[in-house]
Amino acid sequence: MTMPKAIYPGSFDPITYGHIDIVRRARKLFPKLIIAIVANPNKNALFSVEERERITRDALTEMGIDGVEVTSYAGLLIDCVHKLGASAVVRGLRANSDFDYEFQMALTNRDLDSDIETVLFMTAGKYSFLSSSIVKEVKRFGGNISSFVPDSVDKALSKKFASQ
Ligand code: ADP
Repeated sequence: MTMPKAIYPGSFDPITYGHIDIVRRARKLFPKLIIAIVANPNKNALFSVEERERITRDALTEMGIDGVEVTSYAGLLIDCVHKLGASAVVRGLRANSDFDYEFQMALTNRDLDSDIETVLFMTAGKYSFLSSSIVKEVKRFGGNISSFVPDSVDKALSKKFASQ
């Protein structure tokens, strides 16, 4: 059997310790893991897709995680999954609020291709209320985000807000 390849899709605007925790744990099941950053025109992202790719790569390097590819896509996730030759989609589950959305997305993707499995990883308790939005909100008003994101991400946020 060939080793299954998995994709971890999301906005990653920017990547947080919550995402990184999922990456670490998902890799135990899927040594071949690709982070796929979505260029979603419906969501107002703070960082461009190119910036998010770079920030994600830098954060992984800073955390000593190697061998995780980072790419981006626009359009349907399932098309990206096919293009990259993956067989599973990794997502993270935080509090209740994530469940409906993740369930809907997993079922839709299964409808589109029943060979692709979605695997949901439960968040670590300490990250269960951590989101990219919260991090941006705290940082925007000058709060300390060092327990939420690696240093390189903190710096990228400082630079972004200083330029606005
Ligand atoms: P999206 O806009 O696609 O939800 P995100 O970057 O917000 O993109 O999240 C990508 C995935 O990572 C989602 O499955 C989300 O539930 C999960 N995730 C985000 N933050 C955390 C966290 N703190 N703990 C566990 N999973 C998380």
